Amino acid sequence: MKIGIPQSLLYAYYYPFWKTYFEEIGFEVVTTPMTTKGIIDKGVKGSVPEICVPIKVYIGHVLTLLEQDVDYIFAPRFVSIEKGQFFCPKFMGLPDMLRHSFKNIEEKLISPTIQSHSDNIAVPSKNYKIFEEKFNISSKLNQSALEKAEKVWFKFREYSRKGYSALEAADIALGNCTEEEYNHEPKENMEVTIGLVGYVYNIYDTFISMDIYNRLKEMGVKVRTFEMLPEDLLKASLKNMPKTMFWTFSDKLLAAGYHFYQDDQVDGLVHVTAFGCGPDSMLGKLLEVDSEEYNKPFMTVRVDEHTGENHLQTRIEAFVDMIKRKKMKVKRGA
Ligand code: SF4
Repeated sequence: MKIGIPQSLLYAYYYPFWKTYFEEIGFEVVTTPMTTKGIIDKGVKGSVPEICVPIKVYIGHVLTLLEQDVDYIFAPRFVSIEKGQFFCPKFMGLPDMLRHSFKNIEEKLISPTIQSHSDNIAVPSKNYKIFEEKFNISSKLNQSALEKAEKVWFKFREYSRKGYSALEAADIALGNCTEEEYNHEPKENMEVTIGLVGYVYNIYDTFISMDIYNRLKEMGVKVRTFEMLPEDLLKASLKNMPKTMFWTFSDKLLAAGYHFYQDDQVDGLVHVTAFGCGPDSMLGKLLEVDSEEYNKPFMTVRVDEHTGENHLQTRIEAFVDMIKRKKMKVKRGA
């Protein structure tokens, strides 16, 4: 049996977990390719115009899976992975949105509700009971699959914290390649470090973000993202704030942003946000307003389904140059 996973939304954070889990319980895992113009166009046609760009992209990936020969489509309903915090309502309503939009999807859709106490979505196992009931899988097999998936996901997180991008960390954790193959340059020689603040589904979608992560790396910039930071550090960063944002991943970005502001090793922040994101309008404003207080350059890159690449290249080159000049001035004591 083939189960399709859209390469979109939380794919960049949970794919190592999902792939391991599904293979352990006997599925063949099929994913969509990385986002293309064709996938976005499908998503735009299949969505209501006012929805945010990442959801349009997700819908494009789901439509692509529907055209592929898969038996099931995995579209979980993420509710909460942190006490007192919730997912953005679009995540919570995702399966309903799909059911409502595509009449032929119901029989293929597998949508467990993910409600857990931490990022480790292997617990509680009751979130995955649906697989025992629907596919006649024993509790023992289900539990051992969850434990194996959890181990792989912990490895993935460990590689992220070492500084590998989420896509690299997933490849290494899944055994598709080794750390050496990614051949990281000696990071201490990099002149500029930028905190790249954005949801994994924006930063690591090379089409949505126009591959900003790799563009910066090609310019010799050391890039730091929220998932490279330890969880307890993010939590500590949030504790010092008078108010948080309530939405799990927005809070992670907020915490990372303020951590980057206070980290002397980070020279500036780039916030990648997609058109139509409500939480990001607040998050971006907070970071922008406070950039002066921390005396760190801040730039917003807002992307939509039509954004052009040349424009982005010029902006990030100018931003990095400005940081280099600023650092030079400080060195000279000007
Ligand atoms: S957080 Fe923003 S970008 Fe993400 S699903 Fe919600 S509205 Fe869309």
